[in-house]
Amino acid sequence: MIKASNIHKSYGNLEVLKGVDLHIKTGEVVSIVGESGAGKSTLLQILGTLDTPSNTSKYHTEIELNGQSFINMNDKQISKFRNQNIGFVFQFHQLLPEFTALENVLIPTKIAGANEKEATEKAYDLFEDLKIAHRLNHKPNQLSGGEAQRVAVARALINSPKIIYADEPTGNLDSKNADDLHRLFFDLRDKYNQTFVIVTHNPNLAEITDRKLVMKDGMIIE
Ligand code: ADP
Ligand code: ADP
Repeated sequence: MIKASNIHKSYGNLEVLKGVDLHIKTGEVVSIVGESGAGKSTLLQILGTLDTPSNTSKYHTEIELNGQSFINMNDKQISKFRNQNIGFVFQFHQLLPEFTALENVLIPTKIAGANEKEATEKAYDLFEDLKIAHRLNHKPNQLSGGEAQRVAVARALINSPKIIYADEPTGNLDSKNADDLHRLFFDLRDKYNQTFVIVTHNPNLAEITDRKLVMKDGMIIE
């Protein structure tokens, strides 16, 4: 599902990724751990097409998601590719405050030009799965932290992406809500065979994932 080799990234003279190789199978739930500054977020952003690797021709960098290489796509192709294949969950839910939970979740479907009725039905299903069906018409400031994060997960999943990248998804949740969200990731994987890559400082989560990748100084060391 995700095949990458020779990912390098520099900011000026600071070499943040020093040649990362990685191979993640469909339906795997993988955690990425490591000290702050190790390059975890940068790697996730690059795998998620939100940032670009440095000197790709020099290093013969390759990144394939779902059998497709996106390194040489133009901006328009990349946006479309991202919207169809990738869902993101961040530490802070990043819901738009003026929209309801349902409206927030539907945003990616509007970008994709999806059928509105089908999209809304899918959203209802997700709200059921995520146990937030009673919060459809609430605005983010009327939701608890755990609920808002589940709405953000619904938004990440609405276009049925094959890959979900999560950067510290439970960093802002108490341990009960964090455990619930972890369980949810595994339930979704079991149900839809989606692939999850999760940057986390949460040892409970890192221990229960299928595989734990440890990053240090811009490399995967374990
Ligand atoms: P982690 O997620 O493991 O904490 P990051 O990928 O966020 O690590 O950051 C790795 C290093 O790259 C850090 O030293 C950080 O300050 C630096 N860095 C990240 N993004 C930028 C940027 N846009 N410009 C300059 N330096 C950056
Ligand atoms: P995390 O806590 O996930 O490691 P950070 O707080 O390090 O994230 O970074 C948050 C955002 O700021 C990221 O998008 C990263 O690219 C950017 N960033 C991090 N360090 C720097 C930096 N030194 N200069 C510019 N941007 C940075």
